[in-house]
Amino acid sequence: MSGVPAGKSNVRLQRTVVDELTVRPGTSAGLGSRSTAATRADWLRPAGLTHAHDVAEHDLVAFRQELASAQELLWASDTWALLVVLQALDAAGKDGTIKHVMSGVNPQGCAVASFKQPSQHELAHDFLWRCTAALPERGRIGIFNRSYYEDVLVVRVHPELLAGRHLPPAAADGDTLWRQRYEDINAFEKHLVRNGTRVVKIFLHVSKHEQRRRFLERLDEPSKNWKFSSADLAERSFFDDYQQAYEEALTATSTPWAPWYVVPADHKHAMRALVGGILVDVVGQLDLRLPSPGPGEQEALHAARRALESEDA
Ligand code: ATP
Ligand code: MG
Repeated sequence: MSGVPAGKSNVRLQRTVVDELTVRPGTSAGLGSRSTAATRADWLRPAGLTHAHDVAEHDLVAFRQELASAQELLWASDTWALLVVLQALDAAGKDGTIKHVMSGVNPQGCAVASFKQPSQHELAHDFLWRCTAALPERGRIGIFNRSYYEDVLVVRVHPELLAGRHLPPAAADGDTLWRQRYEDINAFEKHLVRNGTRVVKIFLHVSKHEQRRRFLERLDEPSKNWKFSSADLAERSFFDDYQQAYEEALTATSTPWAPWYVVPADHKHAMRALVGGILVDVVGQLDLRLPSPGPGEQEALHAARRALESEDA
């Protein structure tokens, strides 16, 4: 594509950090050996700030601005959509991440879809259907707060849910079902990417200890009580099963066209800045450019200018 090159970001996550967070396709996710608290590389940019917390906030502001202008370019170049899939256990910080990372983006260019337990209507369709209906249009950023991955995560941890899914007998068979779903997801995402939707998948990796601390905070602080649900406590007892389900799902579905990123989530500020940095990195790879007018369009612009200038004041 010709045209005006996009302004290059002043703030980028170092490649070593992006690489560290990426689940390399064909390798295991290795969640057990990934930190929930820090990256190995020192990614925080020196900016005359000493506190890690302040530096992370500083970088988040920069990533946010970059994302806002990237979204404008996305819109103007009218070729790509960006789909951000956010997955995590309860209290890992999905909602806060969406709020803080996306707050600079023009609301017209961005939409969030949250996926809860499927309705009867949704269950009457295949597991990708409801997400397909919520995909971002060309030029927009779509965020999936949970996604079709729930169908290989919560449903895997609670296979009894399959009973209400009306699956054909062959598809309802244990391991085959999960393998087929991974295949379907990989094919679906390949289809999306080939057709202009870049897919970024982020797992917020929180520790069991930090989840407990956040639940207690929700119980202790009256203003946060509403965030607590006793269902969260019930799911916490399956923490290890979820880790196992995530391990397998991320390993099977981190592909060259749609890799997974695992972001340490125990420190919220760093987590949000890292998510912002990943999104900026991915959008940067799209090499977005403002469309430049062709010769005919150029002449039309000149004619419009002449017409406006010749108007009586
Ligand atoms: P928050 O708690 O911050 O509001 P949330 O995403 O946890 O956000 P909830 O309403 O608490 O929202 O939970 C949604 C629940 O729906 C989760 O437990 C999730 O696992 C479940 N869910 C999502 N998709 C599916 C699915 N396809 N099948 C079964 N359960 C699902
Ligand atoms: Mg919840």
